[in-house]
Amino acid sequence: MSALPPCPKCNSEFTYEDGTQLVCPECAHEWSATAADAADEGARVYRDSVGNILQDGDTVTVIKDLKLKGGGGTVKVGTKVKNIRLVDSDHDIDCKIDGFGAMSLKTEFVKKVV
Ligand SMILES: [Zn+2]
Repeated sequence: MSALPPCPKCNSEFTYEDGTQLVCPECAHEWSATAADAADEGARVYRDSVGNILQDGDTVTVIKDLKLKGGGGTVKVGTKVKNIRLVDSDHDIDCKIDGFGAMSLKTEFVKKVV
């Protein structure tokens, strides 16, 4: 048996489960136990520069000029990037850009096309 977490409001240890909710008998605070469970799985949520959730296969536009290393040119603001693939790294988007080929972008420099 795993111990239930203490009440986030008053730190009471006498919390109990009521369905999917946790309830504190001392201050009557109720909160969801499932939210914490979901976070534990480590599923990363990718968001673009304005907070849209990104998924594999999405189309995005670049929101600032991105100079490429080694004099490879500049990906201009407004460049459309189709069929992105999200990866768990510093540059978290793998994609191909017409005229440039395969490259990695950061989610903070793109905006989802909806
Ligand atoms: Zn409480």
